[in-house]
Amino acid sequence: MLFLLKLQLQHLKNEPGTLSMNKDELDITNLHWVLQILQNIEVGLIVFDRNYEVKVWNGFMENHSGISSVAARDKNLFTLLPTLPKSWFQYKTESVLKLGIQAHCNWQQEPHILNFENTRPFTAESELMFQNVTLFPLFSTDKQIHHICALVYDVSEEANNLLKLKTISQTDALTQLVNRGHWQTLFEQEFLRCKRYEDTASVIMMDIDHFKQVNDTYGHQVGDRAIQLIADIILESQRETDVCGRYGGEEFVILLPKTSLKDGVLVADRLRKRIEETPLPLGKEYNDEQLKLTVSAGVAEFSNEFSIAENWLEKADAALYESKENGRNQVST
Ligand code: GH3
Ligand code: MG
Ligand code: MG
Repeated sequence: MLFLLKLQLQHLKNEPGTLSMNKDELDITNLHWVLQILQNIEVGLIVFDRNYEVKVWNGFMENHSGISSVAARDKNLFTLLPTLPKSWFQYKTESVLKLGIQAHCNWQQEPHILNFENTRPFTAESELMFQNVTLFPLFSTDKQIHHICALVYDVSEEANNLLKLKTISQTDALTQLVNRGHWQTLFEQEFLRCKRYEDTASVIMMDIDHFKQVNDTYGHQVGDRAIQLIADIILESQRETDVCGRYGGEEFVILLPKTSLKDGVLVADRLRKRIEETPLPLGKEYNDEQLKLTVSAGVAEFSNEFSIAENWLEKADAALYESKENGRNQVST
């Protein structure tokens, strides 16, 4: 920007109308421009002192906070921005003051440092603006640091794109359930959480009954639609904290945090019934036949005796096997 200003200055010197300007007049013009540019750039600019009293608050900050620069002046930064994570921000600022160097805060560590709305929320993952913030010291003429400058960059677009890609890589394309790899990661996290906090959780393993027959009789396309239907029923019934995954071709897993075995069985049996009562319409090609589907399930509750998460899942798998052995369309523990 300084380079740009120097160019403009050069330009002014060469322009006939400005030939009469002396150096002081040019400096003042210069300053006016700097202020206008800083006021209008699409970057938030805050200057505050060692007591967190705001000295500069530019147009970006005015527009997104709804607080004018006049109203912001000399006010405490944390009063103006009550959602700013105070101790974390102070820690960052202290390091800038102590070391006299820049500090960067990336949206991946603190996604919404300032609680601003996303002004371009089209197909966005979040209604809040994602920000990167840079803090740097401002040296005064006495070579001391009395003030800090914070630059706030709106990185919502980049963040939303990255989050979308991440979601896609964790989602099963056919069913929109969590895919096996990601489910396994979440399952292992829950296992460690239960161990550490002596908490409980249950896991359901579910498998469609006689699914080979469906494929053999109606073809893979109908088979896929059957898998989708059951996934939809699972998704519709899930509670916010449940993690529903597609474990294999026609195998599903549901992780139920803070759920006892008894409640886990209730959830599994409710699903089993709903699936039994929801046949798949096969359409004109099959004379509007309705395909009855059933599932078998196994439920296992977390136990401190498991040494690895795998042990927990094996127990659910063994229960599922029992359901199959005992005639299918049922839930075992
Ligand atoms: P069981 O009641 O014992 O579970 O009998 P089953 O016939 O369902 O046996 P199994 O669970 O072993 O069957 C798995 C079959 O599912 C084999 C495979 O052809 C089919 N399958 C796996 N993934 C897919 C898929 O993505 N689409 C379709 N259409 N079929 C799949
Ligand atoms: Mg199977
Ligand atoms: Mg099966």
